[in-house]
Amino acid sequence: MPDQALLKRLEAAVDAAFNKQVAFLSELTRFPSLRGQEAPLQDWLSRQLADRGYAVDRYTLADIGFDGARGAAPVMDTDYSRAVQLVAARRAKNPGGRSLIIQGHVDVVPAGPAAMWTTPPFEPVVRDGWLYGRGANDMKAGVSAMIFAADALAACGLEPDGDLYLQSVTEEECTGNGALSTLLRGYRAEACLIPEPTGNALTRAHVGVIWFRLKVMGIPVHVARSETGTNAIVAAYKLIEALQAHTREENLRAKSHPRFGALKDPIKFNPGVIRGGDWGSSTPAWCEVDCRIGLLPGDDLAGRRAAIEQVVRQAAAGDEFLANNPPAVEWNGFMADGFVQEEGSAAEAVLAAAHAQVFGEKMAERCSTGVNDTRFYGLYYDMPALCYGPKGEGSHAFDERSDLANVKQTTLAMAAFIADWCGVREVSR
Ligand SMILES: [Zn+2]
Repeated sequence: MPDQALLKRLEAAVDAAFNKQVAFLSELTRFPSLRGQEAPLQDWLSRQLADRGYAVDRYTLADIGFDGARGAAPVMDTDYSRAVQLVAARRAKNPGGRSLIIQGHVDVVPAGPAAMWTTPPFEPVVRDGWLYGRGANDMKAGVSAMIFAADALAACGLEPDGDLYLQSVTEEECTGNGALSTLLRGYRAEACLIPEPTGNALTRAHVGVIWFRLKVMGIPVHVARSETGTNAIVAAYKLIEALQAHTREENLRAKSHPRFGALKDPIKFNPGVIRGGDWGSSTPAWCEVDCRIGLLPGDDLAGRRAAIEQVVRQAAAGDEFLANNPPAVEWNGFMADGFVQEEGSAAEAVLAAAHAQVFGEKMAERCSTGVNDTRFYGLYYDMPALCYGPKGEGSHAFDERSDLANVKQTTLAMAAFIADWCGVREVSR
């Protein structure tokens, strides 16, 4: 770990720049970087990083061939020529230390009804030490931390003694193809840190996620003549119920999982969006339901996919409308494996030491029932992948907020981690 004197220098640098960091985080949060709308943020961020002296590689997902790539997810409902990704490199001249990728995602999930927010989701405000706004916590606070952690080294007249890559990706909330694209483009390092808002715990394991769309379609009639079982919306509910029953079985199976057995119902099924019908007095001819379901680390994706199709087929066979109008299942996003970052990596030891030094306590760990991008590094590219970052609340919910005092400490812990993992040397002026 960095010696006490170096830590003090880094702490003074993080402190001195913290007002600037809060303004930076507010600026980031002000961008409504919903899926397909991240480019203005990425353009702004690339200028910020270029001004700091990074070599910036900015490209779109349309530039990347995903065909056959392990971990690539199906793409629907979006235009990849607008999906801008960003890799900012600070390459060491004659590296004596280890290389590091720090990666954050800047895509955010929809804010939902604005009336449910105390203040508008894309007008960030600070109240009582919290910064409020959609994406403030998940995970723009982490993105600000990675940039200002590296800034702290520079402010101390130091530079990493190994290559440092700061990456800002999109698609984390729906496919993971942004993170994957950086690997397909060739970026590698000896470790990867993803500062998702974990409340300063290390994510030991995360579930996988599959996205799918149920499509029900049949013949519409006037509601006065409709028989039971000829309504696409009602029929779609049958499929939802069958998938809920399937999820209960999956959670029984999860009880024997070495990492998730202790958690109550780690497999979550979520029918997240429903659309259907055209008119209040017409029997709906169509209904679509966008769904998300988890799977366990070690599960086979193809097997889980087949199980979903089987559940839908069976439910359809028992329903008059669906038996005559077989529903379709479309894969419309996440096709993500679960992942366990096994104990014992050197990178984890360095992070744990940095955490302990800053927070004065042992780094906790968590098993997450949501997915994150570390899987690409750990599962497919054999790199230690640490998911660890600041504290906040309300991700994917209303009044999302990030704890600023904690963001400051986390930024320092990340600076200490970079200094120790990459090593540092004095900048020769
Ligand atoms: Zn996130």
